This record gives sequence, C-alpha cells and structure tokens, in this order.
Amino acid sequence: MKIVILGAGQVGSTVAESLASEANDLTVVDIDGAKQRLVMVNPEITDVGPKDFLVWDDCFSFPDLLVRVTRAMQVTVAHEDLKGRPHTLQCEGPMAELMQHEIDHLDGILAVDRAVGLDPFAFRSEWEKYHLPAERYGVPYPREAPDEAIATRLRSVAAGAS
Ligand SMILES: [Zn+2]
Repeated sequence: MKIVILGAGQVGSTVAESLASEANDLTVVDIDGAKQRLVMVNPEITDVGPKDFLVWDDCFSFPDLLVRVTRAMQVTVAHEDLKGRPHTLQCEGPMAELMQHEIDHLDGILAVDRAVGLDPFAFRSEWEKYHLPAERYGVPYPREAPDEAIATRLRSVAAGAS
C-alpha cells in the first residue's frame, strides 16, 4: 500500500518525507492554509493535460536546493480512501506539480532525478536573491515536440525572460 497524506503539518511532512525516501511507501505534504487532511491510498496519475511547464522544484529531502524540472500542467489522480473507496482528483498548476512530485517519491524518484536543461540546480538562498517566488512556476507550453519546446523555453529563460 502506498499513501500520500496532504495537509499534515510541517513537522509531520519533514519526518514523513525522510521516511518516505527510505521506505518509498508513504509521503506526507503540508499545504499552506489546508483546513483538512487528505489521505490518498495507492495514488496513480491516470491522465495528463496537453501542456507542460518548467518548475524550480524543492523537497524536504534537500531543503536548501532548487532543481529545474518539467511537469505536466494538469493531471488526473486516481486513488482510494482509507475505506478502499475509489476517488479521482483533477489538479492544475502548483497542485499538479505537487502530486507528480509526491507520487514520484512513492516510486523512489526524486526531483533531482528529473533535472532538465543546463545548470538545473540552484541553492535556494542564491535563487531567491534574483527571483520572485512566483517565478518558480513557468508558463505552460504544449507538449508536442517536447525537445523543441524545452529548448525554446530554456532559450527564453537564458535570455532573461521568465
Ligand atoms: Zn519531496
């Protein structure tokens, strides 16, 4: 059984993410302002939307590091609750990125394994000197011809656009 718990509080998140990176069967995420906890049993991405975006991702497994990854802008997540009832969840933007990040954890994949482009790593403190928090999420682009789309996007990043 693999479990994602959303809205568990900061301390729980830190502990559980470090446990998860060892056990690969549990991951817990704090969400700012979350009013209730969502437990997702055996979550699985069953569909993705037509667009991707670049994200400067972070992780409790490496709190001082940001890593540039490509994520689907929209995902559909199928999961069960603790009573075994099936559910699906549509997510977009940062929430979609979060689900991909956490489900990757369950599969033993870290954001650093998905680094894309030249120079994909940054110390958080350095990155924050030059960027606003909102710049962690890039503009969505169609997934067609992904190599070309990423190359175009990286050229615009390199040219100073965001
Ligand atoms: Zn993580």
